[in-house]
Amino acid sequence: MNAELQGIGMTSRRTRMRLVQRLRDEGISDEQVLAAIGEVPRHIFLDEALSHRAYEDTALPIGQGQTLSQPYIVARMTEVLMAHKPRKVLEVGTGSGYQTAILAGMAEQVFSVERIRILQEQARQRLRKLGYRNVMLRLSDGGMGWPEMGPFDGIMVTAAPRELPRELLDQLADGGVMVAPVGEKTQMLVEVVREGDQFHTTEIEPVRFVPLLGGVVR
Ligand code: SAH
Repeated sequence: MNAELQGIGMTSRRTRMRLVQRLRDEGISDEQVLAAIGEVPRHIFLDEALSHRAYEDTALPIGQGQTLSQPYIVARMTEVLMAHKPRKVLEVGTGSGYQTAILAGMAEQVFSVERIRILQEQARQRLRKLGYRNVMLRLSDGGMGWPEMGPFDGIMVTAAPRELPRELLDQLADGGVMVAPVGEKTQMLVEVVREGDQFHTTEIEPVRFVPLLGGVVR
């Protein structure tokens, strides 16, 4: 690595550490999650024109009308999901691939579906460049889950359905956990834990996500 690149790497590491401190101040306490945020280079998942804002605690546009969630929300959702130690995780809404990378560092296998091809291809390139080998991506309507690969110990939904899709609940393993934003104008982040045929729902906090839409954009 040349000196200049190394310099950029170190600068982003330092700004990432500031972000980690901020997340701590905001109440994120899972050390593994904080370590993941400290390690994954969020700027790689953004357009170059926006990469200087990568370590602000704010949502940022990734094109196609979609957004990379605010780091606080990424951390919070990951913390809620990972409290259950899922090994096999489904993410709905790959988007930039940043949340996928955070999950891939913590779970054994990550399956992620996206409905917009161009976003999926960019995410694939970034994840490959960073060397993640335990991630499988698919272009499809994630509201249907990924039945061939289920059941999943953990499901993270990063776009908001009006109601939790039945298909996703069905693909949750017994004892599994789903974290999802639900609603339209006002949305609530919920945690759903499956116990046999019962689904126990806990409200986490109000959030704002792009809507979960049907169909694939090729
Ligand atoms: N996890 C992403 C968040 C991206 S925003 C990240 O870290 O960047 C939500 C994403 O969900 C968008 O890319 C959007 O295209 C996608 N999405 C919306 N509805 C979907 C659906 N039914 N199936 C798959 N992806 C969907």
